[in-house]
Amino acid sequence: MGIKAVKFGGSSVADGIQLKKIKDIITSDPDRRYVVVSAPGKRFADDNKITDLLFMCKAQADHRIPYDQLFQVIADRFRAIRYNLNIDVDLDSRFDEIRAALAAGCTDDYIASRGEYLSAILIAAYLGYDFVDTQNLVLFNSKGRLLADETNAALAEELAKHERAVLPGFYGGYRDSGEICVFSRGGSDVTGSLVARAVNADIYENWTDVSGLLMADPRIIKDPKPIEYISYMELRELSYMGASVLHEDAVFPVRQAGIPINIRNTNAPEDPGTIITTESSLDRLQSDGSRVLSGIAGKKPFTVISIYKSMMNSEVGFVRRALAILEDLRISFDHIPTGIDSFSVVIEKDAIEDQLEDVLQAFEQQLHPDDISVIEDIALIAVVGLGLSQTVGVASSITTALSDAGINIRMLNQGFSEINVIVGVNAGDFNNAIRAIYQAFVPA
Ligand code: ASP
Repeated sequence: MGIKAVKFGGSSVADGIQLKKIKDIITSDPDRRYVVVSAPGKRFADDNKITDLLFMCKAQADHRIPYDQLFQVIADRFRAIRYNLNIDVDLDSRFDEIRAALAAGCTDDYIASRGEYLSAILIAAYLGYDFVDTQNLVLFNSKGRLLADETNAALAEELAKHERAVLPGFYGGYRDSGEICVFSRGGSDVTGSLVARAVNADIYENWTDVSGLLMADPRIIKDPKPIEYISYMELRELSYMGASVLHEDAVFPVRQAGIPINIRNTNAPEDPGTIITTESSLDRLQSDGSRVLSGIAGKKPFTVISIYKSMMNSEVGFVRRALAILEDLRISFDHIPTGIDSFSVVIEKDAIEDQLEDVLQAFEQQLHPDDISVIEDIALIAVVGLGLSQTVGVASSITTALSDAGINIRMLNQGFSEINVIVGVNAGDFNNAIRAIYQAFVPA
C-alpha cells in the first residue's frame, strides 16, 4: 500500500456538503491515509472564515465587549456540520473549555488554533480515522520559528502508531512551554507538507477550490491554460511575483524529501490539477522539450533608482556601498541591473516610499555620483520556465511581442540561471504586456 498525505483547505471543509465530497475523495483511494484539515472557511463570497470569527471574539474579549453572540455563530457552524453528517462527537464540553480560556485571557494563537482543532475532531469521527493533535508534534522555538527536524522526528514517531489519521493544520506548540503557537495565515499548507515528509508519502495532495495553477492571471488572460507540471523553483518565481496557490513555507519540507505536491480541486476531483516536483524529475517528464514557458506573473508598482558615475566599473566596492545604505535603512531590493558606469536598484514602491528622500540623500553624500534618476510606477513581469534556457530567441520573442503591441520596455533582465526573464514596463502597460507575451508563447 502506498501513502498519500492530503490536506483540505478552508473552503473544502466549510460545511456538510463539502465534507461529503472530501469523504468521497478520501475513500476512493486507500492510500489517502493522513489527512490535514483547515478550519471551516467561506461557504459563499460574503461568508466569514471561522479563523476570522475566532480572532474577532478574542478582540472583543480583550476590549471587554460581550462576545457570546459571536461565539454562538462559531459554535452553530460546527453544530450544523455535526448534525448534517450525523457525527457522534461531544462538542459542548469543548466549547465550554474555549469559552473559559477566552474569559481567562488566553493567547491569540490559542484562540486562532481552535478552528482547526474542532474541524479535525469532527472530520476524524466522520471518516472513522484517529484524531492526532499537532500541539506537541509541530514544534516551535521560543521565537516562534519552526523546529523542522524535531517536528519531523515527533510526527514520524507518532504517526507510525496510526494507520489512518486526521490532524489539525495551522498550529503546533512551543517546544519549551507546550503552549499553542500558530503559523502565519494559510499555514495548514505547511502542516500538510510536514506530515507528508514525516510519513514519507509518495505524494502530498493539496485540495483546494481551484484546479491547480494557471499559466497567467485569469483576470488578465481569458481562460489561461492550466499548468500540468511545474518545478519547485519555477513555483517560487511565480509565487514571488504574485501567483499564489500555496503558503510560501509549504514547499521546503517536501522539496527536501523529493515528494511532489499535487494541487487538486475538491469541487472537480476528476481534474488532474498541477504537479509540483523537482527540476530533475520534471526534465524526465518533459523529455521531449516541448515545454518552454511555465507561466507569467507580475507585480507593481516598483520604484527604480539609477545611479551614474563615470569610471564606476573601476571603483572597487561602489555597488557594495550603495547596497549597504539600503541595508542600514532596512530596505530590501528586488533587482540590480548594472551597466559599465551605471547601475539601478529596483525596489517595491511600498518598501521605499517613506524613505526615498533619505536613500537619495545618502547616495549623494556617500557615493558622489554624477547623476541619480528615479522612475516610479514600474511593473515587473516574470516570464518563467525551465525550458527557457534551452530555447533560442526567447528574449527576441518577448521584445518583438511587446514592440508589436506598442509597449516600451524599461528593463529586460535574464539571469544566468535562465529560469526566468524579467521585463519592466510602465505600470499602465501591465495588462497589455502580459497579454502580448502570453500570446507570443502560448498558441491559441
Ligand atoms: N485557518 C487558517 C487561516 O484561515 C489556516 C489555514 O486555513 O491554513 O488562515
